Amino acid sequence: LDDRDGKIWMDGQLVDWRDAKIHVLSHTLHYGCGAFEGVRAYKTDKGTAIFRLREHTERLFNSAKILRMKLPFTIEQVEEAQKQVVRENALESCYLRPLTWIGSEKLGVSPKGNQIHLMVAAWAWGAYLGEEGMKRGIRVKTSSYTRHHVNITMTQAKAVSNYTNSILANMEATEDGYDEALLLDASGFVSEGAGENLFVIKGGVVYTPDLSAGALNGITRNTIFHICQDLGLKLVEKRITRDEVYISDEAFFTGTAAEVTPIRELDRVELGTGSRGPITEKIQSAFFDIVNGRNPKYAHWLSLV
Ligand code: PMP
Repeated sequence: LDDRDGKIWMDGQLVDWRDAKIHVLSHTLHYGCGAFEGVRAYKTDKGTAIFRLREHTERLFNSAKILRMKLPFTIEQVEEAQKQVVRENALESCYLRPLTWIGSEKLGVSPKGNQIHLMVAAWAWGAYLGEEGMKRGIRVKTSSYTRHHVNITMTQAKAVSNYTNSILANMEATEDGYDEALLLDASGFVSEGAGENLFVIKGGVVYTPDLSAGALNGITRNTIFHICQDLGLKLVEKRITRDEVYISDEAFFTGTAAEVTPIRELDRVELGTGSRGPITEKIQSAFFDIVNGRNPKYAHWLSLV
């Protein structure tokens, strides 16, 4: 990913892709305090547009606030930086990665006095869990790793360090031949995937874990809430047990990278009919209409670059 043409926005400047480097004594590299976003831009009839740019940018600022990092830029500047990298790299549809980290002035746990940096990169990235998975559904394994407790790492921050837990869970699941991991919270209730929120459907009602289970407040998750309302589907946020997932009619993961990915199996237990369910398909199709600019009701969620 580092050896290619293009531009990356770093601390207010566009730099050549290959020159976008940091020092090995960067504080974040040692202690893991940093925050990032995952954002997508889609091709629409009006041109390339970033989906829910304001919400993603606000979440980045909130993550930084939780981590006591003061970003030396305004929300407007960070929004413009994201539009700029899509334009400069001539991308029609892409994934964007804004990341903030602490500089290399000194080490020691306290980052006081170190500079806060910010970069934005963008590149083409297809279906995160595979094209096939989007149609057939993916196979998921309950992780032996517990999701972060709400008072250990801060679960509403999209913090760099939170992802060690995600990496361990994802590697365990994929090395066992599954596509993704499902993590439970410290009390044993369903929390989220390694990089996705979970939804289950039972008797026509859509359920998702409430945020006290330590799941990230996903922006795609919120988009699904709107879609459910539009489709007349009842949506309930509640504590969910792993066996409720086993006996659900349908289930799916959501995320900026994962979009809406159906789940066909958990722990070798077939969910519903063992393929993408009909309600999931409806939600998925409504989602792609919105992000691709085919639903005028949500035109305000698309920022042309
Ligand atoms: N949970 C985790 C752990 C994630 O990494 C992500 C991806 N950002 C999500 C949930 C989904 O969030 P969003 O829909 O905002 O991308």
